[in-house]
Amino acid sequence: MATTPAPDRAAPQPDAAPERRPAARKVTRHRGEGQWARGHFTPLNANEQLKKDDDGLNVRTRIETIYAHRGFDSIDSADLRGRMRWWGLYTQRRPGIDGGKTAVLEPHELDDEYFMMRVRIDGGRLTTDQLRAIGEVSQAYARGTADLTDRQNVQLHWVRIEDVPAIWERLEAVGLSTTEACGDVPRVVLGSPVAGVAADEIIDGTPAIDEIHRRFIGSKEFSNLPRKFKTAISGSPLLDVVHEINDVAFVGVVHPEHGPGFDLWVGGGLSTNPRFGVRLGAWVPLKEVPEVWAGVISIFRDYGYRRLRNRARLKFLVADWGAEKFRQVLEDEYLKRSLLDGPAPEQPAQRWRDHVGVHRQKDGNFYVGFAPRVGRVDGALLSKVADLAAAHGSGRLRTTVEQKMIVLDVAEAQVDSLVAGLEALDLRVSPSPFRRGTMACTGIEFCKLAIVETKERGRSLIDELEHRLPEFDEPLTININGCPNACARIQTADIGLKGQLVTGENGEQVEGFQVHLGGALGLEPSFGRKVRGLKVTSAELPDYVERVLRRFQAERTEGERFAQ
Ligand code: SF4
Repeated sequence: MATTPAPDRAAPQPDAAPERRPAARKVTRHRGEGQWARGHFTPLNANEQLKKDDDGLNVRTRIETIYAHRGFDSIDSADLRGRMRWWGLYTQRRPGIDGGKTAVLEPHELDDEYFMMRVRIDGGRLTTDQLRAIGEVSQAYARGTADLTDRQNVQLHWVRIEDVPAIWERLEAVGLSTTEACGDVPRVVLGSPVAGVAADEIIDGTPAIDEIHRRFIGSKEFSNLPRKFKTAISGSPLLDVVHEINDVAFVGVVHPEHGPGFDLWVGGGLSTNPRFGVRLGAWVPLKEVPEVWAGVISIFRDYGYRRLRNRARLKFLVADWGAEKFRQVLEDEYLKRSLLDGPAPEQPAQRWRDHVGVHRQKDGNFYVGFAPRVGRVDGALLSKVADLAAAHGSGRLRTTVEQKMIVLDVAEAQVDSLVAGLEALDLRVSPSPFRRGTMACTGIEFCKLAIVETKERGRSLIDELEHRLPEFDEPLTININGCPNACARIQTADIGLKGQLVTGENGEQVEGFQVHLGGALGLEPSFGRKVRGLKVTSAELPDYVERVLRRFQAERTEGERFAQ
């Protein structure tokens, strides 16, 4: 295939002389959006300069040979706040800085000398050995911390630079990595958590995820993108990987002539200016998914906007071009062939798509999905889960995009014992809708962008709602963000809570949330409406959510569900 190689960025170069530029394209005089495909290679902002000065992947050598030996103070600032992300490392927030100072302090004033480390888990696939390794690393090097993220990863905190090489060694020994877990790169590839086992599966996308990982993750072909690039691949009819809000997504469909394959979506993303992905109307067979993925990410690399960081996601290019032009460029310039037209996915049969509960697999065994609260677990707990999975299953587990986990391959006779073991660890297999449907981002405990606390707020909200509304039994999503970003997908939740400072009872500024209501994913996705003027303090949150849900129960029409 004809993906266009990235220009060499190892050394600063004049605008007109990149070593490997997209061929035969007219250079326009105006630098416009800084698109490489238009011949504009001179960095237009500090982030682009940083990437041109040195590839983010190169920082690993400096970590191993210099920083881990000489300590935090030896780390170059461009590496510290930039390139270390290419290896899944961010400095975490210094404890004790309140949310009111987030926007006014300089980055170095917010930096702690400890790191968040993101372990990438493509497809959410884990073995018990891998889960044990994460548990061990958590306990040995991360003060026991471990959070399940809503992109199927695990995040550790309190990591010291001195320990990073040892952590990599332990993780890589079992086939895990932190490569390109953050940064302007292809992030973790989301996959159906029940790929290969679900009885209702249309197609198993695992071979495509493996091939993308093998060929492209850690490759300098795609290590300098305009910004992050998110991928989702699922052959589940439940549409279980939030494909609507990924830069590229492959969604399982059955072509009337060619059988099972994937419907291609591009240009989804949340944060500021949220947009749902659009269908290109193209059907992609499994074996061609890596090639088409490489074509789409190459368009992003070459045509993506690099002038303004807040316009540098693929969604802006897709919005400007439209689906028809995007497909044309993909076919003409990158694939050098036409794609087949194909059908759209069908509406999923159920609202819950997290695979929580006990479900029969296609081989007659069962998978068992369970819910911690808002993804918060710890290293010791993960080690116990690994022991349970080893004793009751085949040693395979999965993470989900809802901060949940699944044990696969459980014989019918073992199900009750596994469920009892998980419940004894407070990991619910039949959780309340509140525990099942509530997610929270990292928040002020560790995140430098945060304004409010989220994890503990989410935990206590779940407990309060379970106590106050024990009879409530509707699919419901409550997503809690610690700032205006979108890490917990607040725009697509039934009740989305965007962290900010609000005015308290006595006129003082306190932690609280702007409320968004009515978001949804699926084939009829919608962004939640920002309820003008509706802001609640963190302390008022349980009262507010209880009122909304009680009003729904009192006023609902027959058959009406809270979730759209
Ligand atoms: Fe941090 Fe904001 Fe993302 Fe939460 S939503 S993890 S506070 S950047």
